[in-house]
Amino acid sequence: MPAIDDIAKAQLALMESKGLRRILKETAPQAGVRVQRGGRELISFSGNDYFGLSQDVRVIHAAGEALERYGAGAGASRLVTGNIPLYGELEAALAEYKATEAACVFGSGYLANIGVITTLVGKADLIIADKYSHACMLDGAQLSGATLVRFAHNNIEHCRLLLESYRTEHQNCLIMTETVFSMDGDRAPVVELAALAREFDAWLLTDDAHGLGFSEHKRNGHGNRAADIQIGTLSKGAGSYGGYVCASQAVIEWLHTAARSLIFSTALPPATLAASIASLDILRNEPQRMQKALENARLFTKYLSLPQAQSLIVPVVLGEVERALEASLMLEEAGFLVAAIRPPTVPQASARLRFTFSSVHEKADIERAAHVLKQGDFA
Ligand SMILES: *Cc1c(COP(=O)(O)O)cnc(C)c1O
Repeated sequence: MPAIDDIAKAQLALMESKGLRRILKETAPQAGVRVQRGGRELISFSGNDYFGLSQDVRVIHAAGEALERYGAGAGASRLVTGNIPLYGELEAALAEYKATEAACVFGSGYLANIGVITTLVGKADLIIADKYSHACMLDGAQLSGATLVRFAHNNIEHCRLLLESYRTEHQNCLIMTETVFSMDGDRAPVVELAALAREFDAWLLTDDAHGLGFSEHKRNGHGNRAADIQIGTLSKGAGSYGGYVCASQAVIEWLHTAARSLIFSTALPPATLAASIASLDILRNEPQRMQKALENARLFTKYLSLPQAQSLIVPVVLGEVERALEASLMLEEAGFLVAAIRPPTVPQASARLRFTFSSVHEKADIERAAHVLKQGDFA
């Protein structure tokens, strides 16, 4: 039997030959959107800290106070002794922000998706998911044992066809989508999906990981008819860490009792919870940050004559893996950090640069990055 190291090396060589090997690169955050990598300072267009809150002094101060008061770690699961008072405060703020009865905070967005999906559905049930749903939603679906079928990306008609074909054979049905798609930056037709869910006696679950501080802003005019189950993360727009789900009181209490990734995992560090509380407060009170970030994304799409940005994520799809890596390298040489996103994160032949924009980017840097892309014939 070959040694495990031989198998590991063979696997790595195979991935390397396809240009798909992934390597961790040490990157130190500096002020704003600057990072230090390989001895150089780069301007990052790759982070998800859309409002600069991970570096905000008020957020850092709140985290520091909680650290002093409660210590570095929670020491146990929330169900045991880890449920420190900051959880209640954060969950009340989330429920209010999302206009739901209740909320539950998990260790991460990944853990929230896994825990929620496996609680809500099982073998006798059906999941209908947008084809581009995040890996952790699909992992949760597989773990649940429910029948999983996927509809073409953002295609309501296809979703309806699948409901017509599969719904009656199953007990409960969960429709899942992201609100803002993490690799494409486009937005889901949440209102239409919610109407379909009602029509077919299904539940709608949305993952708003990239929409926090944004979806709330855009909801005007759509009333409150959002999803039954709203998942998200505090690790992106909130600049902190942790996942959450907002739903009815009954669903949240069900999760407390059944979600394995909540029950069998240690509570978040107190400083992290305090940072999230401070961030949510800033997001609520300073909507101009969202305005500014969106303006930045739209400046970029305008400069490159791309369709107007619908969110703070703008993909520049280049096709083959080599081309995406080449463009990323060229940008890095010019002082910009823009990750090349490759399959299997995105579909075959759609390797891309994924630009993200924040309220703390400078207009001149955005123009310069766009200029580098044009010069290299990448846009
Ligand atoms: C990032 C992301 C997650 C995972 O959230 P973490 O808090 O980083 O674990 C889940 N869903 C989507 C759509 C994401 O983009």
